[in-house]
Amino acid sequence: MRKVTPEDLIEKNNAINSVLHINSKRKEKPKAFVETYGCAQNENDSEMIKGMLEKMGYEFCNSYKDADFVLYNTCAVRENAELRVFGNLGALKGEKRERPDLMIAVCGCMMQQAHIRDEIKKKYKHVDIVFGTHALYKFPQLLEKALEGEKVVDAPDEETAICEDMTYVREGFPVAKIPIMYGCNNFCTYCIVPYVRGRERSRNHENILEEVRQVASEGYKEIMLLGTNVNSYGGDNGEMTFPKLLKEVAKVEGIERIRFMTSHPKDLSDELIDVIATEKKVCNQLHLPVQSGSDRILKLMNRKYTAEKYMEIVEKLRNKIPDISLTTDIIAGFPGETNEDFEETLKLLEKVRYDTIFSFIYSKRKGTPAAEMEDCLTEEEKHKNFDKMIELQNKISREINESYVGKTVEVLVEGESKTNPDILSGRCEQNKIVNFRGEKSLVGKIIKVKITEAKTWSLFGERTE
Ligand code: SAH
Ligand code: SF4
Repeated sequence: MRKVTPEDLIEKNNAINSVLHINSKRKEKPKAFVETYGCAQNENDSEMIKGMLEKMGYEFCNSYKDADFVLYNTCAVRENAELRVFGNLGALKGEKRERPDLMIAVCGCMMQQAHIRDEIKKKYKHVDIVFGTHALYKFPQLLEKALEGEKVVDAPDEETAICEDMTYVREGFPVAKIPIMYGCNNFCTYCIVPYVRGRERSRNHENILEEVRQVASEGYKEIMLLGTNVNSYGGDNGEMTFPKLLKEVAKVEGIERIRFMTSHPKDLSDELIDVIATEKKVCNQLHLPVQSGSDRILKLMNRKYTAEKYMEIVEKLRNKIPDISLTTDIIAGFPGETNEDFEETLKLLEKVRYDTIFSFIYSKRKGTPAAEMEDCLTEEEKHKNFDKMIELQNKISREINESYVGKTVEVLVEGESKTNPDILSGRCEQNKIVNFRGEKSLVGKIIKVKITEAKTWSLFGERTE
């Protein structure tokens, strides 16, 4: 793994100054449009890139039409997201012809794949900068070169150590996303993440706590700790364990809630369950991806647990934390999956009764072991199973939400509802969206709301104080 050297930081700062200088001769306040695909880690990377753009004098806008610099931060987990990026890049061709000064950049997980970079080079010649996931802090150098007229591609396979000399333009107040580790060592057979994000690298706990203290001083109330597999935090570099880190984060004054994502069931320790149960600030909520309820498929997926083992964990969690809400990820149509296998998944959903599930139809990823496995079901059968699963889960989600009617919950207010500015939206401890009438000044506060109505994906209530 390549270390970040003091020379790297000097180069970064020099490049920031150069970009400021180049832009000052062109336009007083250049505008940047950043669009992010995929997971919370990608959103966090974009917040970091926006932090660098801000230092380089950019303001932000909401459309490529107003922008001098456009960036797509891409996701490679499923084909759909990749196709959308290619669609967007295609739409920029004409724009670049009309405005040759427009800078177009693509970064993120898609760009760590050689076949994608080749396609961009061949078919999307109007793209100026391509960069991967491993050394984001080098972005100012890349932008400097591109502004000088060079085409820039930077997506080495070798991971780089984490650069701590970063600022963020955060989105999502009063919730701050804070990464604790990068990469993944698990190699689930369907998944591209280990290939595009590299091996696990944990941040030093002091740096994490410093960042938590910083956002607390800015008024943030909730911390979302991010990692592909947070349970193995510290496993690579002898840092403290994840449960210990949670306890340290909980000591930071001003922070009222702590959540984390994602946990792999194979590494969920009793110690972690105890910390969720006993540490008041750690929310009674867990995202625990199961992927399938069939042992045969779990084995083919290389998930390293059985459905029975998973159920034991769920029982342990519910015994110690009766009001915990559970969510999961499911893949329908994994190669070799039969209708009988899928019935096992449906049975598991009925047994666990998740609050919500995130469900996906299997998407073949080039270079992963599952891409070489044979399919049993037709696309039509896969979609039928998928729809059956959604129908079952919607019924369960609704029933669980209905059990909240009449209860009073504590809501951290996040902002106006997306569909109605008179309505505020926030989340209760169980991470359910709660909407209610109230003034905007409540954003960032924790208030009590009595639930009056349940929907499939949200709750509606009235403020009680
Ligand atoms: N690190 C997390 C999330 C990884 S990606 C974890 O291990 O759970 C998020 C979700 O995308 C996965 O949980 C999985 O359900 C889904 N996913 C990953 N690869 C996929 C593929 N090739 N096709 C369909 N869904 C996929
Ligand atoms: Fe992908 Fe599995 Fe790693 Fe999650 S744990 S990122 S699903 S390989």
